[in-house]
Amino acid sequence: MTQAAIVPRPDLLERLKQIVGPAGYRDGDDIEPSSYEDLMQDRAIRPSLLLRPDCTEQVSAILALCHEAGQPVAPQGGMTGLVSAAAPLAGEVCLSLARMNKIVEIDPYTSTITVEAGTPLQTIQEQVDAHDLLFPLDLGARGSCTIGGNLSTNAGGNRVIRYGMTRELTIGLEAVLADGTVINNLHKLRKNNTGYDIKQLFIGSEGTLGIVTRAVLKLFPKPVSHAVAMCGIDSFQQVADLLIHAQARLGANLSAFEALWRNAWQLVDLHVPHTSVPFPDSHAFYVLVESMGQDEASDSELFLDMLDEAHRKGLIDEVIVADAPGKIKSLWAVRDAPAEVASTVGYMHTYDVSLNVKDMEHFGNEVERRLKQRWPDVMLGIFGHVGDGNLHLVINVGAETRSLHLQLDEIVYGLIRELHGSVSAEHGIGIMKRPFLTWCRGDSEIAMMRGLKQALDPRGILSPGRVFA
Ligand code: ZN
Repeated sequence: MTQAAIVPRPDLLERLKQIVGPAGYRDGDDIEPSSYEDLMQDRAIRPSLLLRPDCTEQVSAILALCHEAGQPVAPQGGMTGLVSAAAPLAGEVCLSLARMNKIVEIDPYTSTITVEAGTPLQTIQEQVDAHDLLFPLDLGARGSCTIGGNLSTNAGGNRVIRYGMTRELTIGLEAVLADGTVINNLHKLRKNNTGYDIKQLFIGSEGTLGIVTRAVLKLFPKPVSHAVAMCGIDSFQQVADLLIHAQARLGANLSAFEALWRNAWQLVDLHVPHTSVPFPDSHAFYVLVESMGQDEASDSELFLDMLDEAHRKGLIDEVIVADAPGKIKSLWAVRDAPAEVASTVGYMHTYDVSLNVKDMEHFGNEVERRLKQRWPDVMLGIFGHVGDGNLHLVINVGAETRSLHLQLDEIVYGLIRELHGSVSAEHGIGIMKRPFLTWCRGDSEIAMMRGLKQALDPRGILSPGRVFA
């Protein structure tokens, strides 16, 4: 692979500007910090040029030229990623899909929506809602993240247990390879066993194999019933048994199974003033169970029966049920609040790991023990998508601690490695988790990834240094 040029050639920059025209680029002070500052505070290097193409042809022409010149490119969506991938490195030009934000078509007969990559997730949700349909991908950054970023990172979020991750929600897509070749895999066919499933190469590969420009996504009927319960539970065995019980009793209506450990509940109670917890921290775990379905009366009865039965079986110690939109929102706010603790406590190291449900109790106890050994005053909150085997952690070990990140990584990921889990459930690898890729993927797997990278981007211009060096 070619070495990244530290300063792009001026003549190249001029030719790139000509491709997109005056409305299609920013340079100098016109480039806003939000286009180059890393959300994880790793770096803020203003690029020489921010390209803002408005069509696939322009993306193709840009990449063809950069490929020819060996010019590295940082593709950008909404800049909400959590692994330091999208902010440019020295010498990179940025390519934002922000102007490619059109909804091309909503097709109720195939239950699909066709969109350009720069469309914000929330816009897609709102547009399909107006057609009584649902695009179920949902995450905290919905207002700022874009579908192109969701696709390139295979975003997860809160309803994976029922609808799957972005990968499962994608039918076809269009992408541009590093040399400018347009791969047109944009179709609405749910069944299409004609050779390799090419779209999957671009989903979750974090912009290293190509730039997604358009996609056809799956839609679902808009649910008419919606109910949420927050359950206080005293042992993890009950949590695990409640998951099986809820899956068996609710079937397809089960749309979320989320949990907060007591430590996360306490952090929310103490440090997120605008969120009030519905009961005191008298339980070891707090589980949010959500039901969404197509029949208001029978769904509600099914949900209440499920909870009642769980109570009788001793799986739940305390429960609050919400079926009005405002109350549902306030229970979800508690679930989402651990991510906001940083605004009052200070820098929180955040983690996103996968592991088997049966190992979660041990993981929670052991990670706390190991962290306390090193930092007796550690502030730790564990929460996440228990139904998907995915936990998040927020950790504060006192002031001036960003530099301790690697030490924390080794403790958290070391335990994940012992439990044969994954160092990234939904955030990706980017630059931040690169040292730990080998902790959960084998040599032959990584060799195959490198082979794909070499085949599709032989000069290494696309997102260089992300996923692997
Ligand atoms: Zn998550």
